[in-house]
Amino acid sequence: METIQKQDRLKPFILMAQESQMLVNLMDKAKGTQMVPHYHYMKSLISYLRESLDKAEQDLPIIATNFGFPTELLYYFECIPVVMETVSYTIGTATGEYYDIMDNWGHPFHTCTSQKGAMGMILNKLFKFDIVAISSVPCDNAVASYPTFKYLQEKAPEIVIADMPYYRDERSHEFYAEELMRVRDKIGELLGQEANKESFKRAIEIENKNLLMLKEIQELKKAEPCPIDSVFVPTNVNSNVMFRGREERTIFLEEMLKYAKENYEKGIKPVGKENLRTIWPNMTIYFDPLYCDYLDKRGITVLFDVFSYLTADPINLNRPENDIIKQLAWQSMNFPMTRQVQGNADQFIQDNLFLAKEYNANAAIFTNHYACKSLQPMVQLLREALRDELDIPLLSIEVDVGDPRHTSLKTIRREVNNFIKTIFPS
Ligand code: SF4
Repeated sequence: METIQKQDRLKPFILMAQESQMLVNLMDKAKGTQMVPHYHYMKSLISYLRESLDKAEQDLPIIATNFGFPTELLYYFECIPVVMETVSYTIGTATGEYYDIMDNWGHPFHTCTSQKGAMGMILNKLFKFDIVAISSVPCDNAVASYPTFKYLQEKAPEIVIADMPYYRDERSHEFYAEELMRVRDKIGELLGQEANKESFKRAIEIENKNLLMLKEIQELKKAEPCPIDSVFVPTNVNSNVMFRGREERTIFLEEMLKYAKENYEKGIKPVGKENLRTIWPNMTIYFDPLYCDYLDKRGITVLFDVFSYLTADPINLNRPENDIIKQLAWQSMNFPMTRQVQGNADQFIQDNLFLAKEYNANAAIFTNHYACKSLQPMVQLLREALRDELDIPLLSIEVDVGDPRHTSLKTIRREVNNFIKTIFPS
């Protein structure tokens, strides 16, 4: 009885582990070669969820965090980190039930579903956190939502926020590094635990290895045809956000690198032909990541979305501890979406021009995410920049990437198909 209550602090993880296991079993039975990235991602996900549930049984504290917070910092402590946005976009997106719970409760309907789903789960008592530790990113919309994680619980956990400045200069960098140290110390105080430097450095070491593998995959994706399925984009994003600094991501990326290299050597795209190479300047369709598979079959490759190209360099671990945190702070300030949304519009535009040019994209598909006050104003600026500098067309689709009731998959398919027929009639 006691054991069940402890795991019940992470009920959505129980559900996710069951659903993911069912899918993996089905894929095992089908013995297909399709959706290879999705299969390996699911296996890593199950391992991460099960380990988290085991830790919950051991009564370890649960820390809710956001995707912009460097999760590696939480490995100073014996705890279970849970990234809220990945939970929002993994459970209940098909029906939107958790968004409705929050809307009915009175939360503004126009906020981002990437936080709203998790809030609905907290309100439904599916999670019980000990601490909420976040960075003040990426946007006002999200930052204003995070305190709800605290206030929706009967026994409100402490919320600790690392304040990230908007500028990307040395003064801001130093300030944010100090913020991360302050947050680390505060978490240690709240948990009554000593910070374990070795376990923190181990997480960085793992992530350094992961980053180098990802960079190799990023290089391989320059090949035409692209040697890895489009569904690698959302699965890579989820693995980066959900289990950064962990072996599960290493195992996933090792498989993906091996797979991409094999396809590269054979000169093939694993699913479908490649008629069109696209970048997605905002997110892909998170309520149905397998939409990417549909696109592959139609000859459309998804190269990158806003989250999936990492610019970071590995962290030099042969430096004093404070300097390691400073390097981590810089990675965090340049984390996808944080980097583009917090900076000037110019950063977002230059990043997309770089990707389109470097990866020889023919088109951009911009999911104009309903809640995103930060990226919506960029559509026209980016459209003009891509057209003027690279002669690349941009399609903007009004969607909520986490909620199919806003714009259905059917409508999205139609819009993409019409765009392609119009722009590339042959
Ligand atoms: S998608 Fe837009 S609204 Fe949602 S968290 Fe990112 S920047 Fe904020």
